Amino acid sequence: MPRILVVEDDEPIGRLLESGLRANGYEVVWERTARGALQQCVIAGFDLIMLDLGLPDLDGVELSRELRLVQPSTVIVMLTARRDEMDVVAGLESGADDYLTKPFGMVELLARVRAHLRRMAPTDDRATPVRLGSLRVDLSARTCAVGEVEVPLRTKEFDLLARLARDPGKALTREQLMSDVWDENWFGSTKTLDVHIAALRRKLGAAATADGSPAPVIATLRGHGYRLESS
Ligand code: CA
Repeated sequence: MPRILVVEDDEPIGRLLESGLRANGYEVVWERTARGALQQCVIAGFDLIMLDLGLPDLDGVELSRELRLVQPSTVIVMLTARRDEMDVVAGLESGADDYLTKPFGMVELLARVRAHLRRMAPTDDRATPVRLGSLRVDLSARTCAVGEVEVPLRTKEFDLLARLARDPGKALTREQLMSDVWDENWFGSTKTLDVHIAALRRKLGAAATADGSPAPVIATLRGHGYRLESS
């Protein structure tokens, strides 16, 4: 049974999340403070963490950063009442994989949770690592390297790279990438995608420099999308 940590100080929203997720077969631990969430994460692993951005004892962005250190591969979904895009970007850069703006519907929330957890589940036909120039992406081990240098990637960064690497040299539209990597019924802003592409470029570039090999190129196709190219 997938384990979900809900971090939310608002009682009605917390109760709604707890009962809604439990009714759909998830094991739920509900914490009302950042401190409580951190303690939970030191004790046990979670498949997904649902995190309110406005907590009483610590900002959700800060907490997200701390949680990343203890649980690097857990999916973090941020819940935010803030519509300011800068806050969303800060949230994603702090280590969150996705976000939902309040008020959100339970149906949408459950669809996102299912999509995230399904992508984390291991599947077959992934035994052979994908190679493209100096880049190696191992889909079953969920590891990535440039030359001999391992590249530490967050969950969604890896999913995005894996998606690009499955069609090397092919132009993929922004909508295609959003729907394949984040949600199949996804619509709206693609800011999330840009933030993750930027992180991938930075990390792959750093690994290439460390290895002394050419960096894999993720080309921007203006007004269209992205393409992974052989270095
Ligand atoms: Ca709150």
